[in-house]
Amino acid sequence: MKLIVANWKSNPLNIEQAIKLAKATDKEGAVIAPPFIFLEAVKNNTSRAKLASQNDFWGNLGAYTGEISSRQLLELGVEYVIIGHSERRKYLKETDELINNKVIASLDAGLKVILCVGESSEIRNKGINHAKLFVEQQLDKDLIGLGQLSNIKDRLLIAYEPIWAIGTMNPDTPDDAEEMARHIKSLLASRYSLKVSVLYGGSVNSLNSASFLNRKEIDGALVGGSSLDAEEFNKIRALSE
Ligand code: PEP
Repeated sequence: MKLIVANWKSNPLNIEQAIKLAKATDKEGAVIAPPFIFLEAVKNNTSRAKLASQNDFWGNLGAYTGEISSRQLLELGVEYVIIGHSERRKYLKETDELINNKVIASLDAGLKVILCVGESSEIRNKGINHAKLFVEQQLDKDLIGLGQLSNIKDRLLIAYEPIWAIGTMNPDTPDDAEEMARHIKSLLASRYSLKVSVLYGGSVNSLNSASFLNRKEIDGALVGGSSLDAEEFNKIRALSE
């Protein structure tokens, strides 16, 4: 079964709506990533879906006003954390150095990390090889120190999310997404002897999801907009079985 991750971003407005959406999408193979404030409610109202955080902090417990540490998330029952989403890279000015610190701290604490990488349209317009090189450089920067960690088998996932495909109704082609997934897997295997799962993200919906999910190298999807519509999300998830 492939993994379908629901990235709710800064939605919905209130806890009642969050509980309703969580109950309606509580299925095996689904991972729900609500805003921090709804994590506990989603946990208490689901039994089959796994829980993810959309962000975390590189530090431990302590004097870090406004931050939430990996240990606190684990204690709450969170299994996955999304790190390096392009919206955070853009709006929160997250750097590869910060993302790297979070990846290493989260893996070290015991979380499963979904690291998002992907190129801009300017890069992609130069061709898929430019995009591959950009992703390779991002991975190199975001994964510094990975070789020093032990017990990370099956806990690092990469979400290939071309920036130009996110929230645009303009998904990548399944051929190119699969080529990138294969490239990412071979890089991680040669650099770290690590077998990783690669998810595709970018305007996935119930009409196009099968074309990505039936590709051998694509191990699941990271779904933004379509995850807020339970019927739509459930159709995508059903195709992953
Ligand atoms: C995302 O937020 O990671 C995403 C892929 O969004 P969307 O599905 O809306 O393109």
